[in-house]
Amino acid sequence: MSTGAIRRAQLVTPFGVGAMSVLVNGTSVITAGLDHWYDIDDAGRLALEEYQEHDWRLEKRLRVSEFRLPPDYRYQGQGNDNRNVKLTVPVLRFPRWCFCMFCKRLKISTLTMQQPVLCKDAKHADWKYKPRMSQVPFVAVCAGGHLDDFPFDKWVHKAHRPTCSGTLRLKSHGGGGLEGQVVSCDECGKERSLRGITEGHFINGEEHTTLSDQLSTPNDPFLCTGARPWLAKLEGPCSNPMRGALRAAGNVYFPKVESSIYLPQKEGAVSAEMHELMRHPAVSGTMRTLHGIFGADLAVQVLRDNLLKNVPPELFGPVSDEELMAGYRDLLGVGEIVPESGEDSDAELLTGDDEWRFPEFQHIRHTPKDDYLSATDPGVHPDLRSHIERVRSVDVLRETRALRGFTRVRDGVLKLSEGKALLRREPLPPVQAWLPAYVVKGEGIYFELDAAQLAVWEARADVQERAQKITDQYSAVASQRGLQNRTLSPRFVLLHTLGHLLINELVFACGYSSASLRERLYVSTTPGREMAGLLIYTAAGDSEGTMGGLVRMARPDNLRAVFVSALGDARWCSTDPVCMDAGEKGQGPDSCNLAACHGCALLPETSCEEFNRFLDRGLVVGTFDKPDLGYFLPFA
Ligand SMILES: [Zn+2]
Ligand SMILES: [Zn+2]
Ligand SMILES: [Zn+2]
Ligand SMILES: [Zn+2]
Ligand SMILES: [Zn+2]
Repeated sequence: MSTGAIRRAQLVTPFGVGAMSVLVNGTSVITAGLDHWYDIDDAGRLALEEYQEHDWRLEKRLRVSEFRLPPDYRYQGQGNDNRNVKLTVPVLRFPRWCFCMFCKRLKISTLTMQQPVLCKDAKHADWKYKPRMSQVPFVAVCAGGHLDDFPFDKWVHKAHRPTCSGTLRLKSHGGGGLEGQVVSCDECGKERSLRGITEGHFINGEEHTTLSDQLSTPNDPFLCTGARPWLAKLEGPCSNPMRGALRAAGNVYFPKVESSIYLPQKEGAVSAEMHELMRHPAVSGTMRTLHGIFGADLAVQVLRDNLLKNVPPELFGPVSDEELMAGYRDLLGVGEIVPESGEDSDAELLTGDDEWRFPEFQHIRHTPKDDYLSATDPGVHPDLRSHIERVRSVDVLRETRALRGFTRVRDGVLKLSEGKALLRREPLPPVQAWLPAYVVKGEGIYFELDAAQLAVWEARADVQERAQKITDQYSAVASQRGLQNRTLSPRFVLLHTLGHLLINELVFACGYSSASLRERLYVSTTPGREMAGLLIYTAAGDSEGTMGGLVRMARPDNLRAVFVSALGDARWCSTDPVCMDAGEKGQGPDSCNLAACHGCALLPETSCEEFNRFLDRGLVVGTFDKPDLGYFLPFA
């Protein structure tokens, strides 16, 4: 089955491997694992290089050798070029259970069923056309990332292995809730409502769910069997509790996406021609092989000789020895000092954001000149100088966003190897491993807070107290869900909220759709890695991304106007005084916002790195009670 009209980037997220979506014909499907992406009848027609992308830092971080763009579906090639025609991302039909709108009969179908499932119930024996069955809205999930059909037969018979195999029906007994949904068996007459199937809670740190504990008895819980229908594997090791879920519910799929801004190893060293040459599949393959043998000590002549065996010489014409070696270093990250934790098992949880972002911060805050990353210094308006230390207009940047796995039930911690294992049936050795990704070229505005001003503000007890409220709220959520604790520093909340306010203002001033702008926070108080920067950039990947609009807004007069307007608006939210009052207790997602709501500081999900949490206007412009609490008071 093909996915129909899902956009390519959406096949990385939100409809990546293991996610469910609904096709135009109404069929609910799940995006299949990576094993059969780019499958084509005639291997000679596959030109994989069109989809291969590289970002050496992200490759190292995720331990893969390349990224691949999802294929775009083409009915036919241009002229005689039939390469990559009719490539699709495979999907499987899920959930397998169907039911009949007329007689309520339940029937289990198959993952590969292509035709509509027709109801063969005796009630329609005399119908000329048998009614078409629909897929049920219910599934079952476990926190290990597994997903299964809801066990209707087991649930109604209260047995792990029911002996009765009578015809089941799913009836609605009025009322909108699950309690009104009743499974019944024609044969033995048993009936059971779906009340509570989505519920679960923790007892002494152990997860308990209604589905697992109540299916038969709590002493004999019904546990996950490791089903991964997107890999066509219905069994595997797992003994987590299962819970029911609506297939469209938010807790069924949490994609883990890692994003990287491409950093050249040496700015300007790799020319556009060299980047082009490296797209030739033999080039990256040869470089990788040689890297395995020689590592950083590879002699340029050896590299050139070996490449010439596999690549047409005319491609090399303009490429100098220096460029060749620079390309080699960028592709394989040769000479890069990998942070300590990058090598040991801690990397399973990925390096901390501040450690990973720090090199980006170091590049962007200067004025890099490279085909893939270039920024200039527009200067800072005198009115902003007391609070803003530096501004950069980022004329070109290249972002790679890769899917490295997903979780279900909770947006919890996901180890690197566990995430990858969920994405394919058969693991690949690291030299061949790849992850689905998309790449966008864009532009942005970067700025940093004034270090001295920030230090004074951050040292204030009332400021720290305010931020501590958010940290406390998050700790409560984190301990409930088994997440790592985080300290939300005043500068983090300040820069994050400021980012949201500025994006809202830029949308208004430049006419961008807000979903096309993204924030990227460079915030750390770790000694030696202190950062207090924010990048706002375009992420649409189409022409809107490179219109030059954002770069123009980085000019001193324009940026001043954006700040004044954004900070001015931030003083009063359309739901105030409610929004500001709510700020005393916490509101919004996980109650992790103070004075911030849809009326003032929230953004579309795609724009925010933190799921619209950790926001507070109070730390930006002060509260009604404490107008001087905000970092920006003296300015605005
Ligand atoms: Zn029927
Ligand atoms: Zn029965
Ligand atoms: Zn499981
Ligand atoms: Zn508000
Ligand atoms: Zn955000």
